[in-house]
Order: sequence, then C-alpha cells, then structure tokens
Amino acid sequence: MGRYSGSVCRFCRREQKKLFLKGSRCYTDKCAFERRGYPPGQHGWSRSKVTEYGLHLREKQKAKRIYGCLERQFRRYFKIAAQQKGATGENLLILLERRLDSTVYNLGFARTRAEARQLVRHNHFTVNGRRVNIPSFLVRPNDVVGIEEQSRKITPILEAIEMKAQRGIPSWLEQNRDTFQGLVKGTPRREEISLDIQDQLIVEFYSR
Ligand code: SF4
Repeated sequence: MGRYSGSVCRFCRREQKKLFLKGSRCYTDKCAFERRGYPPGQHGWSRSKVTEYGLHLREKQKAKRIYGCLERQFRRYFKIAAQQKGATGENLLILLERRLDSTVYNLGFARTRAEARQLVRHNHFTVNGRRVNIPSFLVRPNDVVGIEEQSRKITPILEAIEMKAQRGIPSWLEQNRDTFQGLVKGTPRREEISLDIQDQLIVEFYSR
C-alpha cells in the first residue's frame, strides 16, 4: 500500500483548518498553520471562490488526510459503508475509527495517527494476544489491543500515554495503563467521533 511521505502541515494549510497531524507540535507556536495560515503553493493567497463540488472535495480530502488513507483505500471504505445498514457517512467514519492504527491512537498508545500506523507496522502491538502489523485491521467489540512486552518502554509510547491521560479516551475504548492493554468495549457511535468532519458532504462527493 502506498503512502504519502511529504509534509503533512501542508494538508492543514490546504484545508484551512488544523488537523493535528503532528502530535504535541500542533499545540506550539511552531505549528505551520499558525505561522502561515494561507493555502500552500505559489497561488495560495489568490485562490478563487469555492464551488459546491470544491466543498465536497475538500471535506473528503480532509477525512482522508486525518486518517492517512490514499484515494483507492478510502473509496473502498466508502463502498463498504454504502453496503451497510444505516447512514453511509456515519458508517464510513465508524469504519475508519475501527482501524487498528486509529484505535491505537485513540487508546493513547501513539501521539498521532501516523505514528500509530508506523508503530503497528513495526510489530509493537497485539490483538487478542497475537501480533498484528496491519494498520487497516478492523477491531471488533471485546478485542484486546496490547503493547508487546519489549515495546513498553519505548519513548513514543510512554509519551503518548502521558499525553492521552490529559485528553481522555473515547467511551467505546478502555485503556489499562498497568497492563499496557486496551479493551474495545463496543462499536464507536457517530456522536463519539469528535472530529470536525461533515460526513454528508463526503457522501455527496461520491454520489455525483
Ligand atoms: Fe497541522 Fe499540526 Fe502541522 Fe499545525 S503542526 S500545521 S496542526 S499538522
């Protein structure tokens, strides 16, 4: 699976919104959006009025960038969400939240989703006692996500646990700091996903 390896701060400037993709740096005055809050590129200042299509496109791009998916994979999630019962936009966000990298991030075992993805790829996590290194693995209710024994002292994980202690864990997850494990208590509900994403606009984008 391909992966974007350029500057992610560019995404915040493009979406004209802080997407908090760089962990603690996002809360400092080093944040690129705080310093240069205009869209990137030579014509960043002079972009013209946003059309309805542009609005839908931007929302889709924003969600893709927050979750670190490329287009093909994101479209695949949309297809799955459309086949499920209920509102497609909600289903889509719930699927994205259930990804193992998102779950690791939400459990507070990584400082950003990108870092969570890398830690998963590097074999630092288990699901129900078995090592899983696939960031797109979808967790289910009652799954237990654990940190491998030899990974429990690495700085990014310890820092992330400290950071998360200040920000809280979503109610569909439960973190056990002593055992370095997290329990998936249920399926996330839309109202528990606090990200500023208007899922209906994404549905409209793919329904053109
Ligand atoms: Fe976005 Fe964080 Fe970079 Fe600021 S520091 S532009 S919030 S990714």
